[in-house]
Amino acid sequence: MSQAEDIESVDQDGVIESVSGPVVTATDLDARMNDVVYVGDEGLMGEVIEIEGNLTTIQVYEETSGVGPGEPVENTGEPLSVDLGPGVLDAIYDGVQRPLDVLEEKMGTAFLDRGVDAPGIDFETEWEFTPTVDVGDTVEAGDIVGEVPETESITHKVMVPPDYEGGEIESIENGAFTVDEVVAELSSGEEITMHQEWPVRQARPADTKETPTVPLVSGQRILDGLFPIAKGGTAAIPGPFGSGKTVTQHQLAKWADADIVVYVGCGERGNEMTEVIEDFPELEDPKTGKPLMSRTCLIANTSNMPVAARESCIYTGITIAEYFRDMGYDVALMADSTSRWAEAMREISSRLEEMPGEEGYPAYLAASLSEFYERAGKFQNINDTEGSVTAIGAVSPPGGDFSEPVTQNTLRIVKTFWALDADLAERRHFPSINWNESYSLYRQQLDPWFRDNVADDWPEVRQWAVDVLDEEDELQEIVQLVGKDALPEDQQLTLEVARYLREAWLQQNAFHDVDTYCDPKKTYRMLLAIKTFNDEAFDALEAGVPVEEITDVDASPRLNRMNTSDEWNEFIDELESELEEQIRSLY
Ligand code: ADP
Repeated sequence: MSQAEDIESVDQDGVIESVSGPVVTATDLDARMNDVVYVGDEGLMGEVIEIEGNLTTIQVYEETSGVGPGEPVENTGEPLSVDLGPGVLDAIYDGVQRPLDVLEEKMGTAFLDRGVDAPGIDFETEWEFTPTVDVGDTVEAGDIVGEVPETESITHKVMVPPDYEGGEIESIENGAFTVDEVVAELSSGEEITMHQEWPVRQARPADTKETPTVPLVSGQRILDGLFPIAKGGTAAIPGPFGSGKTVTQHQLAKWADADIVVYVGCGERGNEMTEVIEDFPELEDPKTGKPLMSRTCLIANTSNMPVAARESCIYTGITIAEYFRDMGYDVALMADSTSRWAEAMREISSRLEEMPGEEGYPAYLAASLSEFYERAGKFQNINDTEGSVTAIGAVSPPGGDFSEPVTQNTLRIVKTFWALDADLAERRHFPSINWNESYSLYRQQLDPWFRDNVADDWPEVRQWAVDVLDEEDELQEIVQLVGKDALPEDQQLTLEVARYLREAWLQQNAFHDVDTYCDPKKTYRMLLAIKTFNDEAFDALEAGVPVEEITDVDASPRLNRMNTSDEWNEFIDELESELEEQIRSLY
C-alpha cells in the first residue's frame, strides 16, 4: 500500500466523533469518497465510505479497540492504492498490501500490527533493467519500455503508466535501479520508474475485452474434461469444511497453466491461512522445478484481522492481477473465500444502519460481487499485448446450503461452477466435485481449442460421458427402490460403465506422483478406453451374452489403473486390445 508520503499536504485534520468496531465517524474532515485517512493517535489506516455534511464515515482496516472520540484523523487526499513494480511476486501481503515479513520484523510478530506502515514493494532493492526501446522511439501510455528479471520464472515488463501522456524517449539506460529511480525520460517531461501506484477500486484500462477461447488447463480430469474454465473466465467453488477445498486450490495453483497466480486468503480461519503461508513457499512449480512462489503473490487476511481489510484484500488482489495482465501474462486469481468478504460487507453495512437486503446482506451485495468478477477477462491491452485474468472465487455457504444469498448471487455472475460435495468427500471420492451440480458455460467456446489441440471428437466423446453419468443419476433412484438386479440388463451395463467413469476417470489422486497431473490428451485417451469397453460390451450384450459375463472379463478392472500409469499410451493401447479380444471371445 502506498506510503503516506503526501501526508504533509493534508489541508485539514478532522476529529473522531464515534467508534463502532471498524466504523469510525469524524467531523471537520475535508475528504472525498474513498480517500485514505489515518485514524487516531496511532494513525490506523482507513477509507472514507460515506460523507454527510460535516460528518465523514470511515472504515478502518485495523483493529480499533482503544481508539476514542477526540483523537485526530488525517486525510492523505489519495484513494486506496497498491504499489506495483518488481518485488510483488514472491511476496506475502496483508489485506492492505503490507508485506508480512516486513511487518513481522517491525512488530516482532505477524498479525498484531497497528498503525504500522510499510510499502508494498521494497524501495531499496536494485533491479537489473534492460531497455526494450531506444532513444528517439515514441511510446504511449501502457507501452513496455524495458524488462527486469523479477524472479526465476517471471520477467517483469516495465510499462509507461496508463495515465501518462507518452512521447519520444529522450533517455533510457541499462543498469541497476531501485524502483523509484528514473529509468527513462520522455519528451513530454514525464519520467518513468519501475514503480506504479494504482487505485484499487478502479480497473486498469484495457483496449477491448474479448471472448476467451483458450482453456486454463488444470491437469485435473473433471475440470478439463467436463467443466473447463477459460483463460479470462470466472468460476466459483463452494467448499464445505473437509470437502477438499484446500487440496483443490493447491492443485490449481500448482498445475493450472497460468503464468502468474495471485492467491487471496480472505477472512478464513487463521490456521488455514497459516497453512497456505507455510505451504506455498515450500511448493515447487512442478513444470519448471522452480519455487512456486516465484510466480505467485499471496495476500493473507485471516479471520483475526479486521473485517474491513477483507474488502481491500480482494481489490488489492485483482489490481495486482491486472498489472501482470497488462504485461501480456495470463493470471489466475484465487479468492478464498468470497463469503467472508460478503460477511464483512454485511457487518459494515449494519453498522452504517443501511437498509438490509436478503439475510442482512446489503442490497449492493450483487453489484459488488459482479464488479469484482467483471474485472476478469481476456483483454487486448493498451500496449497491444494480450493478457488475461481468470477469477476463481471460493464460496463457503453455511451448512453447504447453496440457496443462501452469496452463493446465489455468485452463481448469477460466474460462468463455471465447481460444486464440492461433502458426501463425496466422505466416501473418499476425490476431487469431490459433484458432476451433477457443476457446470461450465465455456464448453462450447472452448471446443474448437480442444478439437485442435487434443482430439477432433473431444466434444462428442465428452457428451457421451455426460449422458452416461446423467442416466446413472436417473437409474440410481430406481436402484434404491428395487435393487440393481431388478433392472434390465442394458441398464445394469450402463451402471457398470458409469462406475468406471466415476472411479477410473473422475477420481484423481492429488497425492500420487503420476495421477496428480493429467495431460488433457491422457484425459481424452482414458475416456476413450472406457468408451471402447462400453461399445464392446453393448455389442456383446446384443449378441446375447449375459451381463455378468461381460463385466467379469479380466481386463476391465485394469481400467482403474490407467490413471497411475506413466506410459499411458502403451498401457491404454494394450488394454483396449485385450478388452476387445476378451469380450469378443464371449460370443
Ligand atoms: P477442506 O480444505 O475443504 O477442509 P482439504 O482440502 O483439507 O479439505 O481435504 C481434506 C482431505 O481430503 C485431505 O487431507 C485429503 O486427504 C483428502 N483429499 C482432498 N482432495 C483430494 C484429492 N484431490 N486427492 C486425494 N485426496 C484428497
